[in-house]
Amino acid sequence: MEARIEVGILGATGMVGQHFIKFLQGHPWFDLKWLGASDRSAGKRYSDACTWHLGVAPEAISAMTVEESKPGNAPRLLFSAMDASVATDIERAFAQAGHVVVSNSKNHRMERDVPLLIPEINPDHLKLIPGQQRARGWKGQIATNPNCATISLCMGLAPLRAFGITKIIVTTLQAISGAGYPGVPSMDINANVIPYIGGEEEKMEQETQKILGDFRGDHIDPLAARVSAHCNRVPVVDGHTVTVSVEFSSKPSLADVRNAFDRFTSVPQQRKLPSAPATPIIYMPQQDRPQPRKDAERERGMAAFVGRLRPCPALDYKFVALTHNTIRGAAGAAVLNAELMHSEGMLD
Ligand code: NAP
Repeated sequence: MEARIEVGILGATGMVGQHFIKFLQGHPWFDLKWLGASDRSAGKRYSDACTWHLGVAPEAISAMTVEESKPGNAPRLLFSAMDASVATDIERAFAQAGHVVVSNSKNHRMERDVPLLIPEINPDHLKLIPGQQRARGWKGQIATNPNCATISLCMGLAPLRAFGITKIIVTTLQAISGAGYPGVPSMDINANVIPYIGGEEEKMEQETQKILGDFRGDHIDPLAARVSAHCNRVPVVDGHTVTVSVEFSSKPSLADVRNAFDRFTSVPQQRKLPSAPATPIIYMPQQDRPQPRKDAERERGMAAFVGRLRPCPALDYKFVALTHNTIRGAAGAAVLNAELMHSEGMLD
């Protein structure tokens, strides 16, 4: 039997950290052995250091002691869900010390030599890592996953790249869990829509171009498409919906686009990575789907649900896409990234 791989979590006491813990339970390759957080939590039993929000906390994890977020006795592979105000320096210190940091934080995503990965879309962007290690003198490395709403958009666009994407207009309907815990005050979000999420539109526009861009030796050439994002917080608990209009340089028929959604599969499915959904894009023909409450948690929260494909009078076609923001948009995304890295021999 293949040796199991010990893993740790930076930011283990936070909302995304808890999703990492839950998602890693029973993982066939990864054994969770180390939990890191701030000095406020270090030295405490995990159950005393954090308030668990995801049902019943796993007993073995509750009894573990939270560690300081400093290189020392942590396993080589670390998932990071740290507060963005501290992630830059701490993630770099671990990479410098030889750790493989698979991060969910925004801090390093747009750096030229850091992969911003969605394994179904750009597994070849992992080829940035050797250059990253050379340039920074690191034995370790940092790879990142995108912003949670960007994942919804990019999963929806992934099957359509062959048609030559030239313009994208996207409007998001983002769940409150995307703002962490306790997140948006209930008096602000109940029966309401907040048409502003700080920094989100810029992140979606830039990250999408990088994710759908081409690997060019030591950097990624961004997709030369214009991307315009409108980001909204809505009273949904889990699941980010995006409505997308897209223009192509070729002029595919509606049937071509629909076939592309139906047929899409990629490296994680071919390699049968443990967290990969069997069907990464599930096209829903019903006219009122996908919906976050009915669909986001299906397929362990790892698939993208797409529907309502139709002609767009302004661009070429329009559709709806949905992914689970704290699973496919955060913890599950990073775990799938690490599985891809393992399948490439990068964790040996
Ligand atoms: P959170 O609940 O506020 O958790 C933050 C974590 O960072 C806690 O474990 C906290 O530990 C730790 N931390 C804070 N200061 C620290 C320090 N000085 N040294 C070491 N650790 C420190 O935040 P979250 O919602 O889980 O988000 C975590 C990250 O994921 C953020 O960068 C966020 O932007 C990103 N993200 C979130 C979502 C989402 O859906 N929520 C989605 C995608 C990405 P203590 O408990 O000890 O303070």
